[in-house]
Amino acid sequence: MIDPNIRQRPAYRKGLWFRNMVILLGVVALIAIFLNQFDLNSTGRLVVDPVLSAPIGERDVTVASHKSGHTIVIDAGHGGKDPGANGASGAEEKDYTLALAKKVYALLQQDPKFDPYMTRNDDTFLDLDERSAYSNQLEADAFLSIHGNTYTNPNISGTETYYDSLISIPLAETIHSKLIEATGFPDRGVKQEQWRVLVGSERPSILLEVGFMTNPQEEAKMLDNARQDRVAQAIVDGLKQYFEGK
Ligand SMILES: [Zn+2]
Repeated sequence: MIDPNIRQRPAYRKGLWFRNMVILLGVVALIAIFLNQFDLNSTGRLVVDPVLSAPIGERDVTVASHKSGHTIVIDAGHGGKDPGANGASGAEEKDYTLALAKKVYALLQQDPKFDPYMTRNDDTFLDLDERSAYSNQLEADAFLSIHGNTYTNPNISGTETYYDSLISIPLAETIHSKLIEATGFPDRGVKQEQWRVLVGSERPSILLEVGFMTNPQEEAKMLDNARQDRVAQAIVDGLKQYFEGK
């Protein structure tokens, strides 16, 4: 029961309160949208990244003409309606590839020798030709498509690196040897395969199958954050070695 001595708020006051809340929520939403356009770089400084914030077809690729370092395109496999492999624990390949791709991108951003790009930096669907076309437009010095493997037999494990064009062999071999060290997974070798994302690329391009998501032990290691950091660092170390040797 309401104490009749307690004064009720006048109706117009309630209306005012409601209007203020709507304005406040609107401002909070705008700030959230605004902050979403930025990435924190290595120094903690806010930087605008116009390349990443636009849909792939609308991005400014002219930046490649005044680049200062090696242009690296990191492609997180799958995305959006295409989940890729289904891991032993139910994890989806598209989330794994994005997590690892972001780590590689962040490390490359810290090094002035590299100009890194990502084909996607969120859960977006891109077809395979869009990915390789983006790499071609940017005249990438290296294109890396990141994947997790899948097989019907959960005991199958190991790391594989693929190339299509012969110009990509040195890149594939250098990254693969670093990857094997970092994962500790069985070495399934560097192989040639006409994966569509590689066939469409005119640039040195490789596809990394870091490990088998269908193998429970391997999947657990692939999803481990600290191990992902090590794998990302290995990919970057491989890129450094590759360009030093050129
Ligand atoms: Zn895949």
